[in-house]
Amino acid sequence: MFDYLIVGAGFAGSVLAERLATQQNKKVLIIDKRQHIAGNSYDHYNEEGVLVHRYGPHIFHTNSKEVFDYLSGFTQWRPYEHRVLASVDGQLVPMPINLDTINKLYGLNLTSFEVDDFFKSVAEEVPTVRTSEDVVVSKVGRELYEKFFRNYTRKQWGMDPSELDKSVTSRVPVRTNRDDRYFTDTFQAMPLHGYTAMFSKMLDHPNIKVMLNTDYHDILDIIPFKEMIFTGPVDEYFDFRYGKLPYRSLEFKHETLDKTQHLPAAVVNYPNEHAYTRVTEFKYLTGQEHHKTSIVYEYPQAEGDPYYPVPRPENAEIYNQYKKLAEETPGVHFVGRLATYKYYNMDQVVAQALTLYKRLTDKDKAKATDGKALRKVGSTKKTLISAVVAGSGLNGNGSH
Ligand SMILES: Cc1cc2nc3c(=O)[nH]c(=O)nc-3n(C[C@H](O)[C@H](O)[C@H](O)COP(=O)(O)OP(=O)(O)OC[C@H]3O[C@@H](n4cnc5c(N)ncnc54)[C@H](O)[C@@H]3O)c2cc1C
Repeated sequence: MFDYLIVGAGFAGSVLAERLATQQNKKVLIIDKRQHIAGNSYDHYNEEGVLVHRYGPHIFHTNSKEVFDYLSGFTQWRPYEHRVLASVDGQLVPMPINLDTINKLYGLNLTSFEVDDFFKSVAEEVPTVRTSEDVVVSKVGRELYEKFFRNYTRKQWGMDPSELDKSVTSRVPVRTNRDDRYFTDTFQAMPLHGYTAMFSKMLDHPNIKVMLNTDYHDILDIIPFKEMIFTGPVDEYFDFRYGKLPYRSLEFKHETLDKTQHLPAAVVNYPNEHAYTRVTEFKYLTGQEHHKTSIVYEYPQAEGDPYYPVPRPENAEIYNQYKKLAEETPGVHFVGRLATYKYYNMDQVVAQALTLYKRLTDKDKAKATDGKALRKVGSTKKTLISAVVAGSGLNGNGSH
Protein backbone atom coordinates (compact mmCIF):
# COMPACT_ATOMS: atom_id res chain seq x y z
CA MET A 1 0.00 0.00 0.00
CA PHE A 2 1.41 3.41 -0.97
CA ASP A 3 0.98 6.28 1.46
CA TYR A 4 0.56 8.66 -1.49
CA LEU A 5 -0.37 8.40 -5.13
CA ILE A 6 0.95 11.53 -6.83
CA VAL A 7 -0.55 12.34 -10.21
CA GLY A 8 1.85 14.38 -12.37
CA ALA A 9 5.65 14.41 -12.23
CA GLY A 10 6.14 18.15 -12.81
CA PHE A 11 7.39 20.54 -10.15
CA ALA A 12 4.31 20.25 -7.93
CA GLY A 13 4.27 16.45 -7.86
CA SER A 14 8.02 15.91 -7.72
CA VAL A 15 8.66 18.35 -4.86
CA LEU A 16 5.98 16.62 -2.79
CA ALA A 17 7.26 13.15 -3.67
CA GLU A 18 10.76 14.13 -2.63
CA ARG A 19 9.71 15.75 0.66
CA LEU A 20 7.30 13.03 1.74
CA ALA A 21 9.69 10.20 0.86
CA THR A 22 12.91 11.65 2.27
CA GLN A 23 11.61 13.58 5.28
CA GLN A 24 8.59 11.53 6.37
CA ASN A 25 9.60 8.08 5.15
CA LYS A 26 6.35 7.85 3.18
CA LYS A 27 5.96 5.36 0.35
CA VAL A 28 5.11 7.30 -2.77
CA LEU A 29 3.96 6.32 -6.25
CA ILE A 30 4.32 9.19 -8.71
CA ILE A 31 2.81 8.76 -12.16
CA ASP A 32 2.61 10.78 -15.34
CA LYS A 33 0.68 10.19 -18.52
CA ARG A 34 3.61 11.52 -20.50
CA GLN A 35 6.66 9.38 -21.21
CA HIS A 36 8.96 11.54 -19.09
CA ILE A 37 9.30 13.26 -15.72
CA ALA A 38 9.67 17.05 -15.20
CA GLY A 39 6.26 18.11 -16.58
CA ASN A 40 6.38 21.18 -18.79
CA SER A 41 9.91 21.93 -17.62
CA TYR A 42 11.21 18.80 -19.37
CA ASP A 43 14.43 19.21 -21.32
CA HIS A 44 16.41 16.65 -23.31
CA TYR A 45 19.23 16.25 -25.82
CA ASN A 46 17.70 16.14 -29.30
CA GLU A 47 18.88 13.95 -32.18
CA GLU A 48 21.71 16.36 -32.94
CA GLY A 49 22.83 16.40 -29.31
CA VAL A 50 21.58 19.90 -28.50
CA LEU A 51 19.85 20.39 -25.12
CA VAL A 52 16.33 21.74 -25.77
CA HIS A 53 13.18 22.45 -23.75
CA ARG A 54 10.40 20.42 -25.35
CA TYR A 55 7.59 22.65 -24.07
CA GLY A 56 9.17 26.02 -24.77
CA PRO A 57 11.84 28.02 -22.96
CA HIS A 58 11.82 27.70 -19.17
CA ILE A 59 13.87 30.33 -17.38
CA PHE A 60 14.30 29.99 -13.66
CA HIS A 61 14.01 33.15 -11.58
CA THR A 62 12.80 33.76 -8.05
CA ASN A 63 12.93 36.12 -5.11
CA SER A 64 12.45 33.25 -2.68
CA LYS A 65 15.64 32.14 -0.95
CA GLU A 66 13.73 29.18 0.47
CA VAL A 67 12.80 27.91 -3.00
CA PHE A 68 16.28 28.53 -4.40
CA ASP A 69 17.97 26.79 -1.46
CA TYR A 70 15.58 23.88 -1.68
CA LEU A 71 16.25 23.27 -5.39
CA SER A 72 19.99 23.75 -4.84
CA GLY A 73 19.88 20.41 -3.03
CA PHE A 74 19.36 18.74 -6.42
CA THR A 75 21.35 20.80 -8.88
CA GLN A 76 24.26 23.12 -9.35
CA TRP A 77 23.40 26.32 -11.14
CA ARG A 78 24.59 28.27 -14.10
CA PRO A 79 24.18 32.05 -13.60
CA TYR A 80 21.88 33.30 -16.34
CA GLU A 81 20.11 36.60 -16.91
CA HIS A 82 17.47 36.45 -19.59
CA ARG A 83 17.29 39.05 -22.37
CA VAL A 84 14.61 39.49 -25.00
CA LEU A 85 14.43 41.60 -28.16
CA ALA A 86 11.24 42.58 -29.97
CA SER A 87 10.99 42.94 -33.74
CA VAL A 88 9.18 46.24 -34.26
CA ASP A 89 9.18 48.52 -37.32
CA GLY A 90 12.01 46.50 -38.88
CA GLN A 91 14.30 46.88 -35.85
CA LEU A 92 15.23 44.61 -32.94
CA VAL A 93 14.77 46.56 -29.71
CA PRO A 94 14.97 45.61 -26.00
CA MET A 95 11.90 44.19 -24.33
CA PRO A 96 10.59 45.18 -21.75
CA ILE A 97 10.52 48.69 -23.14
CA ASN A 98 13.39 50.69 -21.68
CA LEU A 99 15.34 53.85 -22.43
CA ASP A 100 17.22 52.20 -25.32
CA THR A 101 13.99 50.86 -26.82
CA ILE A 102 12.54 54.34 -27.11
CA ASN A 103 15.74 55.96 -28.35
CA LYS A 104 16.31 53.29 -30.99
CA LEU A 105 12.70 53.16 -32.12
CA TYR A 106 12.30 56.92 -32.56
CA GLY A 107 15.95 57.85 -33.32
CA LEU A 108 16.15 59.92 -30.14
CA ASN A 109 18.80 60.53 -27.52
CA LEU A 110 16.68 60.91 -24.38
CA THR A 111 18.00 60.60 -20.83
CA SER A 112 16.27 58.60 -18.09
CA PHE A 113 14.47 61.73 -16.84
CA GLU A 114 13.40 62.71 -20.31
CA VAL A 115 12.08 59.26 -21.16
CA ASP A 116 10.01 59.36 -17.99
CA ASP A 117 8.50 62.63 -19.24
CA PHE A 118 8.03 61.00 -22.63
CA PHE A 119 6.02 58.13 -21.09
CA LYS A 120 3.96 60.60 -19.08
CA SER A 121 3.23 62.68 -22.17
CA VAL A 122 1.96 59.69 -24.17
CA ALA A 123 0.22 57.82 -21.32
CA GLU A 124 -3.58 57.84 -21.44
CA GLU A 125 -5.65 58.60 -18.41
CA VAL A 126 -7.59 55.50 -17.36
CA PRO A 127 -9.87 56.06 -14.33
CA THR A 128 -9.97 52.38 -13.30
CA VAL A 129 -7.41 49.93 -14.62
CA ARG A 130 -9.32 46.71 -15.30
CA THR A 131 -8.01 45.15 -18.48
CA SER A 132 -4.63 44.43 -20.04
CA GLU A 133 -5.20 47.25 -22.50
CA ASP A 134 -5.80 49.64 -19.59
CA VAL A 135 -2.53 48.58 -17.96
CA VAL A 136 -0.47 49.33 -21.04
CA VAL A 137 -2.10 52.49 -22.42
CA SER A 138 -2.09 54.05 -18.94
CA LYS A 139 1.67 53.46 -18.79
CA VAL A 140 3.02 53.99 -22.32
CA GLY A 141 0.16 55.28 -24.44
CA ARG A 142 -1.61 53.89 -27.47
CA GLU A 143 1.16 53.93 -30.05
CA LEU A 144 3.59 51.75 -28.08
CA TYR A 145 0.62 49.59 -27.04
CA GLU A 146 -0.16 48.96 -30.72
CA LYS A 147 3.48 48.34 -31.66
CA PHE A 148 4.46 46.00 -28.82
CA PHE A 149 1.46 44.61 -27.01
CA ARG A 150 -1.82 44.54 -28.84
CA ASN A 151 -1.09 41.99 -31.57
CA TYR A 152 1.23 39.91 -29.39
CA THR A 153 -1.55 39.55 -26.84
CA ARG A 154 -4.14 38.82 -29.52
CA LYS A 155 -1.95 36.05 -30.90
CA GLN A 156 -1.04 34.68 -27.49
CA TRP A 157 -4.52 34.65 -26.00
CA GLY A 158 -6.79 34.73 -29.06
CA MET A 159 -8.44 37.77 -27.49
CA ASP A 160 -8.01 41.49 -27.57
CA PRO A 161 -6.18 42.94 -24.53
CA SER A 162 -9.37 44.89 -23.79
CA GLU A 163 -11.06 41.55 -23.05
CA LEU A 164 -8.31 40.23 -20.78
CA ASP A 165 -7.81 40.73 -17.10
CA LYS A 166 -5.17 43.30 -16.08
CA SER A 167 -3.10 40.54 -14.44
CA VAL A 168 -1.99 39.22 -17.85
CA THR A 169 -0.03 42.28 -18.95
CA SER A 170 1.01 43.60 -15.57
CA ARG A 171 3.71 40.95 -15.81
CA VAL A 172 5.54 43.17 -18.34
CA PRO A 173 7.14 46.24 -16.74
CA VAL A 174 8.41 49.39 -18.47
CA ARG A 175 11.75 50.92 -17.49
CA THR A 176 13.25 54.38 -17.74
CA ASN A 177 16.83 53.09 -17.40
CA ARG A 178 18.93 50.87 -19.68
CA ASP A 179 18.36 47.65 -17.73
CA ASP A 180 17.57 45.14 -20.46
CA ARG A 181 17.18 42.06 -18.28
CA TYR A 182 13.81 40.42 -18.72
CA PHE A 183 13.57 39.57 -15.02
CA THR A 184 14.82 41.47 -12.00
CA ASP A 185 14.51 38.70 -9.37
CA THR A 186 17.24 38.16 -6.78
CA PHE A 187 17.98 34.62 -7.97
CA GLN A 188 18.34 34.08 -11.71
CA ALA A 189 20.01 30.86 -12.83
CA MET A 190 19.54 27.72 -14.88
CA PRO A 191 20.08 24.17 -13.58
CA LEU A 192 23.63 23.41 -14.71
CA HIS A 193 22.78 20.04 -16.27
CA GLY A 194 19.18 20.89 -17.13
CA TYR A 195 15.78 20.46 -15.50
CA THR A 196 15.30 16.76 -16.19
CA ALA A 197 18.61 15.92 -14.50
CA MET A 198 17.47 17.94 -11.48
CA PHE A 199 14.13 16.09 -11.36
CA SER A 200 15.90 12.72 -11.67
CA LYS A 201 17.87 13.55 -8.58
CA MET A 202 14.76 14.64 -6.69
CA LEU A 203 12.98 11.40 -7.47
CA ASP A 204 15.93 9.10 -6.88
CA HIS A 205 14.93 7.52 -3.56
CA PRO A 206 13.95 3.96 -2.57
CA ASN A 207 10.60 5.21 -1.22
CA ILE A 208 9.65 6.71 -4.59
CA LYS A 209 8.33 4.64 -7.47
CA VAL A 210 7.89 6.39 -10.82
CA MET A 211 5.39 5.16 -13.43
CA LEU A 212 5.31 6.90 -16.80
CA ASN A 213 2.88 6.60 -19.73
CA THR A 214 0.20 6.11 -17.09
CA ASP A 215 -3.05 8.00 -16.81
CA TYR A 216 -4.33 7.96 -13.24
CA HIS A 217 -7.74 6.67 -14.37
CA ASP A 218 -6.02 3.45 -15.45
CA ILE A 219 -4.61 2.59 -12.04
CA LEU A 220 -7.06 4.08 -9.53
CA ASP A 221 -8.83 0.79 -8.88
CA ILE A 222 -5.75 -1.38 -9.17
CA ILE A 223 -3.07 0.16 -7.00
CA PRO A 224 -3.90 0.76 -3.34
CA PHE A 225 -2.93 4.07 -1.74
CA LYS A 226 -3.99 6.11 1.27
CA GLU A 227 -4.09 9.66 -0.10
CA MET A 228 -3.75 11.30 -3.47
CA ILE A 229 -1.92 14.42 -4.57
CA PHE A 230 -3.37 15.62 -7.85
CA THR A 231 -1.49 18.04 -10.12
CA GLY A 232 -3.49 17.54 -13.35
CA PRO A 233 -6.38 19.73 -14.53
CA VAL A 234 -8.94 20.14 -11.75
CA ASP A 235 -11.92 20.15 -14.15
CA GLU A 236 -10.79 16.82 -15.59
CA TYR A 237 -10.65 15.32 -12.09
CA PHE A 238 -14.31 16.16 -11.58
CA ASP A 239 -15.35 14.95 -15.05
CA PHE A 240 -15.99 18.53 -16.22
CA ARG A 241 -19.04 18.75 -13.98
CA TYR A 242 -19.20 22.54 -14.20
CA GLY A 243 -17.89 22.70 -17.76
CA LYS A 244 -14.42 22.82 -19.26
CA LEU A 245 -11.98 25.38 -17.90
CA PRO A 246 -10.52 27.20 -20.91
CA TYR A 247 -6.80 27.00 -21.56
CA ARG A 248 -4.59 28.49 -24.20
CA SER A 249 -2.22 26.09 -25.88
CA LEU A 250 0.86 26.30 -28.07
CA GLU A 251 2.34 24.41 -30.96
CA PHE A 252 6.13 24.21 -30.73
CA LYS A 253 8.13 24.00 -33.96
CA HIS A 254 11.66 22.89 -33.13
CA GLU A 255 14.50 23.30 -35.63
CA THR A 256 18.21 22.55 -35.54
CA LEU A 257 20.42 24.70 -37.72
CA ASP A 258 23.84 23.97 -39.13
CA LYS A 259 25.54 26.97 -37.53
CA THR A 260 26.72 27.85 -34.04
CA GLN A 261 24.43 30.84 -33.45
CA HIS A 262 21.23 32.11 -35.02
CA LEU A 263 19.65 34.91 -32.95
CA PRO A 264 21.20 38.06 -31.45
CA ALA A 265 19.52 37.25 -28.10
CA ALA A 266 17.97 34.24 -26.37
CA VAL A 267 14.49 35.24 -27.47
CA VAL A 268 13.10 37.46 -30.21
CA ASN A 269 9.45 38.44 -29.88
CA TYR A 270 7.37 39.04 -32.99
CA PRO A 271 4.42 41.17 -31.92
CA ASN A 272 3.19 41.85 -35.44
CA GLU A 273 4.37 40.23 -38.62
CA HIS A 274 4.23 36.44 -38.06
CA ALA A 275 1.79 33.78 -36.83
CA TYR A 276 4.32 32.77 -34.16
CA THR A 277 4.86 34.94 -31.11
CA ARG A 278 8.51 34.31 -30.40
CA VAL A 279 11.63 32.37 -31.32
CA THR A 280 14.06 31.02 -28.72
CA GLU A 281 17.60 29.82 -29.16
CA PHE A 282 18.33 27.30 -26.40
CA LYS A 283 22.10 27.56 -26.24
CA TYR A 284 21.79 31.02 -24.66
CA LEU A 285 19.80 29.43 -21.82
CA THR A 286 21.77 26.26 -21.37
CA GLY A 287 25.29 27.57 -22.08
CA GLN A 288 25.94 24.45 -24.15
CA GLU A 289 28.78 24.59 -26.66
CA HIS A 290 27.89 22.82 -29.89
CA HIS A 291 28.63 23.33 -33.56
CA LYS A 292 24.88 23.32 -34.29
CA THR A 293 22.12 25.32 -32.66
CA SER A 294 18.46 24.62 -31.91
CA ILE A 295 15.58 27.07 -31.92
CA VAL A 296 11.86 26.84 -31.26
CA TYR A 297 8.95 28.81 -32.72
CA GLU A 298 5.79 29.17 -30.62
CA TYR A 299 2.42 29.22 -32.37
CA PRO A 300 -0.44 29.95 -29.97
CA GLN A 301 -3.61 27.93 -30.46
CA ALA A 302 -6.89 27.16 -28.73
CA GLU A 303 -6.65 23.36 -28.79
CA GLY A 304 -3.90 21.11 -27.48
CA ASP A 305 -2.13 20.56 -24.17
CA PRO A 306 -3.43 22.89 -21.46
CA TYR A 307 -0.70 25.50 -20.88
CA TYR A 308 -2.15 28.85 -19.88
CA PRO A 309 -5.28 29.23 -17.76
CA VAL A 310 -7.28 32.05 -19.37
CA PRO A 311 -7.71 34.77 -16.74
CA ARG A 312 -11.25 36.03 -17.26
CA PRO A 313 -13.84 36.62 -14.53
CA GLU A 314 -16.25 33.97 -15.85
CA ASN A 315 -13.44 31.38 -15.79
CA ALA A 316 -12.56 32.34 -12.23
CA GLU A 317 -16.20 31.72 -11.33
CA ILE A 318 -16.14 28.23 -12.85
CA TYR A 319 -12.83 27.52 -11.12
CA ASN A 320 -14.25 28.62 -7.76
CA GLN A 321 -16.93 25.94 -8.09
CA TYR A 322 -14.26 23.31 -8.73
CA LYS A 323 -12.19 24.70 -5.87
CA LYS A 324 -15.09 24.21 -3.50
CA LEU A 325 -15.51 20.62 -4.68
CA ALA A 326 -11.76 20.05 -4.28
CA GLU A 327 -11.89 21.35 -0.71
CA GLU A 328 -14.74 18.97 0.05
CA THR A 329 -13.00 15.92 -1.42
CA PRO A 330 -11.41 13.93 1.38
CA GLY A 331 -8.01 12.36 0.87
CA VAL A 332 -7.15 14.29 -2.30
CA HIS A 333 -4.87 17.34 -2.33
CA PHE A 334 -4.87 19.64 -5.36
CA VAL A 335 -1.68 21.51 -6.12
CA GLY A 336 0.15 23.06 -9.11
CA ARG A 337 -0.69 25.13 -12.12
CA LEU A 338 -3.41 22.94 -13.59
CA ALA A 339 -5.00 21.79 -10.35
CA THR A 340 -5.37 25.35 -9.04
CA TYR A 341 -5.95 26.95 -12.46
CA LYS A 342 -3.37 29.68 -11.88
CA TYR A 343 -0.69 31.14 -14.10
CA TYR A 344 2.18 30.15 -11.80
CA ASN A 345 5.87 30.23 -12.59
CA MET A 346 8.06 27.31 -11.58
CA ASP A 347 9.24 28.93 -8.34
CA GLN A 348 5.67 29.69 -7.30
CA VAL A 349 4.67 26.08 -7.86
CA VAL A 350 7.64 24.90 -5.78
CA ALA A 351 6.57 27.29 -3.00
CA GLN A 352 2.97 26.07 -3.25
CA ALA A 353 4.13 22.44 -3.01
CA LEU A 354 6.35 23.16 -0.01
CA THR A 355 3.40 24.84 1.71
CA LEU A 356 1.18 21.81 1.09
CA TYR A 357 3.97 19.55 2.39
CA LYS A 358 4.08 21.55 5.61
CA ARG A 359 0.31 21.31 5.95
CA LEU A 360 0.40 17.55 5.46
CA THR A 361 3.13 17.08 8.06
CA ASP A 362 1.39 19.42 10.53
CA LYS A 363 -1.70 17.29 10.07
CA ASP A 364 0.31 14.12 10.74
CA LYS A 365 1.82 15.70 13.86
CA ALA A 366 -1.63 16.66 15.07
CA LYS A 367 -2.81 13.08 14.52
CA ALA A 368 0.18 11.74 16.49
CA THR A 369 -0.53 14.15 19.35
CA ASP A 370 -4.19 13.12 19.34
CA GLY A 371 -3.07 9.49 19.55
CA LYS A 372 -0.84 10.12 22.56
CA ALA A 373 -3.57 12.04 24.36
CA LEU A 374 -5.98 9.22 23.71
CA ARG A 375 -3.62 6.57 25.06
CA LYS A 376 -3.36 8.58 28.29
CA VAL A 377 -7.12 8.66 28.69
CA GLY A 378 -7.02 4.84 29.08
CA SER A 379 -9.44 2.02 28.44
CA THR A 380 -12.24 3.15 30.77
CA LYS A 381 -13.34 5.83 28.32
CA LYS A 382 -13.70 3.67 25.22
CA THR A 383 -16.78 5.40 23.88
CA LEU A 384 -15.10 8.80 23.90
CA ILE A 385 -11.93 7.37 22.34
CA SER A 386 -13.71 5.73 19.45
CA ALA A 387 -15.62 8.96 18.81
CA VAL A 388 -12.41 11.02 18.77
CA VAL A 389 -10.56 8.48 16.63
CA ALA A 390 -13.39 8.51 14.11
CA GLY A 391 -13.18 12.29 14.06
CA SER A 392 -9.45 12.42 13.55
CA GLY A 393 -9.76 9.79 10.83
CA LEU A 394 -12.04 12.12 8.94
CA ASN A 395 -9.63 14.99 9.34
CA GLY A 396 -6.84 12.67 8.37
CA ASN A 397 -8.37 12.18 4.98
CA GLY A 398 -8.05 15.89 4.47
CA SER A 399 -10.62 18.59 3.98
CA HIS A 400 -8.95 21.04 1.67
C1 LIG B 1 5.48 27.66 -22.82
C2 LIG B 1 5.69 27.82 -21.34
C3 LIG B 1 6.79 28.53 -20.91
C4 LIG B 1 7.02 28.69 -19.54
N1 LIG B 1 8.11 29.38 -19.15
C5 LIG B 1 8.38 29.51 -17.84
C6 LIG B 1 9.53 30.23 -17.42
O1 LIG B 1 10.32 30.72 -18.24
N2 LIG B 1 9.76 30.34 -16.09
C7 LIG B 1 8.91 29.80 -15.15
O2 LIG B 1 9.19 29.93 -13.95
N3 LIG B 1 7.79 29.12 -15.53
C8 LIG B 1 7.51 28.96 -16.85
N4 LIG B 1 6.40 28.26 -17.24
C9 LIG B 1 5.51 27.69 -16.20
C10 LIG B 1 5.95 26.30 -15.77
O3 LIG B 1 5.87 25.42 -16.86
C11 LIG B 1 5.01 25.85 -14.66
O4 LIG B 1 5.09 26.73 -13.57
C12 LIG B 1 5.32 24.45 -14.13
O5 LIG B 1 5.53 23.53 -15.16
C13 LIG B 1 4.16 24.00 -13.28
O6 LIG B 1 4.43 22.75 -12.71
P1 LIG B 1 3.22 21.77 -12.36
O7 LIG B 1 3.81 20.60 -11.69
O8 LIG B 1 2.15 22.54 -11.67
O9 LIG B 1 2.59 21.39 -13.78
P2 LIG B 1 3.17 20.57 -15.01
O10 LIG B 1 4.60 20.82 -15.23
O11 LIG B 1 2.23 20.86 -16.14
O12 LIG B 1 3.00 19.06 -14.56
C14 LIG B 1 1.75 18.41 -14.46
C15 LIG B 1 1.92 17.01 -14.96
O13 LIG B 1 0.70 16.28 -14.72
C16 LIG B 1 0.56 15.34 -15.75
N5 LIG B 1 -0.83 14.92 -15.84
C17 LIG B 1 -1.92 15.69 -16.14
N6 LIG B 1 -3.03 14.94 -16.15
C18 LIG B 1 -2.66 13.66 -15.86
C19 LIG B 1 -3.37 12.43 -15.74
N7 LIG B 1 -4.70 12.35 -15.97
N8 LIG B 1 -2.68 11.33 -15.40
C20 LIG B 1 -1.32 11.37 -15.20
N9 LIG B 1 -0.61 12.51 -15.33
C21 LIG B 1 -1.26 13.65 -15.65
C22 LIG B 1 1.01 16.09 -16.99
O14 LIG B 1 1.40 15.19 -18.02
C23 LIG B 1 2.17 16.91 -16.46
O15 LIG B 1 3.43 16.31 -16.72
C24 LIG B 1 6.12 28.12 -18.60
C25 LIG B 1 5.00 27.40 -19.05
C26 LIG B 1 4.79 27.25 -20.40
C27 LIG B 1 3.60 26.48 -20.88
